[in-house]
Amino acid sequence: MRILLVEDEHTLGTWLCKALERSGIIVEWVDSARTALAALGARAHDVIVLDLGLPDLDGQDLLARIREKDALVPTLVLTARDTLADKVRAFHAGADDFLAKPFELQELEARLHALLRRARGAQAARLGCGPLTYDLASQRFALNGEALALSPREFAVLRVLIQHSGEPMSKQQILERVVSDEKDIQPDAVEVIVHRLRKRLEGTGVRVSTFRGLGYALETA
Ligand code: CA
Repeated sequence: MRILLVEDEHTLGTWLCKALERSGIIVEWVDSARTALAALGARAHDVIVLDLGLPDLDGQDLLARIREKDALVPTLVLTARDTLADKVRAFHAGADDFLAKPFELQELEARLHALLRRARGAQAARLGCGPLTYDLASQRFALNGEALALSPREFAVLRVLIQHSGEPMSKQQILERVVSDEKDIQPDAVEVIVHRLRKRLEGTGVRVSTFRGLGYALETA
């Protein structure tokens, strides 16, 4: 999962980047509305986490601008303002969820996963594609109910594919969700990892298909 974090408090921003990345959530962090709008135009994000008190534009106004650009991207509002009126205003402006500061990291993580799951139309705490399942709580894959052992990079790529199953993801889109610094890994490395995953999944009833010009998608065979 790749999130856009819009937060002007640097201590909180730095901590969230580190803490969430430890849980496999890639964070693109910006500290103003201006940089947030630029980041939104530059690439897609799975969830937006938005602080309402920003230096250059009120978060509610930014939320309205975000909704003009992308009506569907799940957005969680993070704020010290936790009065009922603030919450109602945030929901009216297009927020999907709301978390008052201070908050527990575990709760933020759980809410991010729930938002992504709902955006994908899944009801259960488990994602699936044919015989392959991914349990969101334990963060484990299983094939026909048997645990599937994967290298960290295979795991990260397969998780992106199952979170977006049936939807082609380009090498770049996969990469953006697997590493925070794309300089660390080349898009061609994704090809190698996909090749290994294909071997793992051979003959199992689930496969990684190539869609020319679009990318890879996890499908039932
Ligand atoms: Ca703030």
